[in-house]
Amino acid sequence: MTVTPERPMTYAKMKGLVTFFSALLKEKKVVFSDFLHKLVSSQQLCQHLDTQRLLQRQSKMKRRRREEKAALSSANTEASQMKPSDFDYLKVIGRGSFGKVLLAKHRKQGGYYAVKVLQKQMIIKRREQQHVMVERSVLLKGLQHPFLVGLHFSFQTPNTLYFVLDYVNGGELFYHLQREGSFPEPRAAFYAAEMAAALGYLHSLNIVYRDLKPENILLDRDGHVMLTDFGLCKEGVAIGGIMHTFCGTPEYLAPEVLQGQPYSPAVDWWGLGTVLFEMLCGLPPFYNHCKAEMFENILHAQLQLPSGFSEAARSLLEGLLERDIAKRLGESRDIEELRDHPFFAFINWDDLVAKKLRPPFIPKVSGPCDISYIDPEFTQQPVPASVNERVQAAGASAAFPGFSFMNPAEYVAAEPVS
Ligand code: ATP
Ligand code: MG
Repeated sequence: MTVTPERPMTYAKMKGLVTFFSALLKEKKVVFSDFLHKLVSSQQLCQHLDTQRLLQRQSKMKRRRREEKAALSSANTEASQMKPSDFDYLKVIGRGSFGKVLLAKHRKQGGYYAVKVLQKQMIIKRREQQHVMVERSVLLKGLQHPFLVGLHFSFQTPNTLYFVLDYVNGGELFYHLQREGSFPEPRAAFYAAEMAAALGYLHSLNIVYRDLKPENILLDRDGHVMLTDFGLCKEGVAIGGIMHTFCGTPEYLAPEVLQGQPYSPAVDWWGLGTVLFEMLCGLPPFYNHCKAEMFENILHAQLQLPSGFSEAARSLLEGLLERDIAKRLGESRDIEELRDHPFFAFINWDDLVAKKLRPPFIPKVSGPCDISYIDPEFTQQPVPASVNERVQAAGASAAFPGFSFMNPAEYVAAEPVS
């Protein structure tokens, strides 16, 4: 910091300053910013405008930080008071690795949510605390994107963790794909572009989604893509950075993941390639009913593209399903490289993210709690009584400290989702 004196400094003033500084510094408790503040409050010692302005700005920032902290901590106190009985659990709508996903209605506010209920015991047994906490911290990071499912609250009881998410009721994208066999290129391009936008956003925050697979891609009531399930997202990976953990479902795994090699955000561009291929063909690339063969194919077989594909689709799939990471589309400039690709020529990316492009298919849902697109395999299951444990929300447990959360937006607005 350079301080330009506005008036010449006399010896007496200089001496006064030195005495003042040394007195302050002798008080060991005085931290540097307090020191600066004492300094600025002493008008006669410091009349340098730029210094004062700097310190005032610092003080404003400090006040704002204090206010933000207070808002968050009261939001979290509220959240920790949330309990399972704040919701009516209406239907089972999905199954995850550690528990069920239920359609629930907030008793007081009346909004509908998807509540993901995870059994702590199962998580601990499989030593997955890390993932679950990652899921929470990823959702918590204030992720806000039109094509990512939002988290409203999370809380815990002695046995269970609860994530309260937007209820996305247009069905899994692949529920629709299975019914139709395959999608025409423009429809597949629309969905692939929305997924790419969400992935590009995550990558810009150093988050790798890593688990792009059919059941994690939902359609909302207007027909837009919503990515759910951040369980396996990996934080803190810069583009060009590497990770070593092995996770995922075989069909959609990138070769570098299969081989246990370091991997980067480019795994998501491979994942997008597999999902795009499946939308256009009805089956994942390298598919074989024998898992071992499929692994082998992913690692070594030549990519077979059906003859009906356009030149743009062929070149995009070859670019995304490139085994050499350095040559894979998206590896160097991430989503920018996809935006420029001819397959997406008709997409105006700003309009896409603003949800101004009309989705190629609009689900027929009658309202916010419609379950007609959810597989009856789930909806016919009875709601387990255990989800409504008659207990108060637990304090932070040793295994899942700091889990409970209320989205600050929720705290301020307290508006029900409809
Ligand atoms: P896995 O790790 O095996 O993918 P998971 O435990 O992470 O599973 P999710 O994928 O988040 O669980 O959820 C399981 C299923 O529940 C999803 O495939 C989807 O069908 C349904 N589901 C999840 N979140 C929502 C939501 N917000 N709205 C509607 N349905 C949802
Ligand atoms: Mg999932």
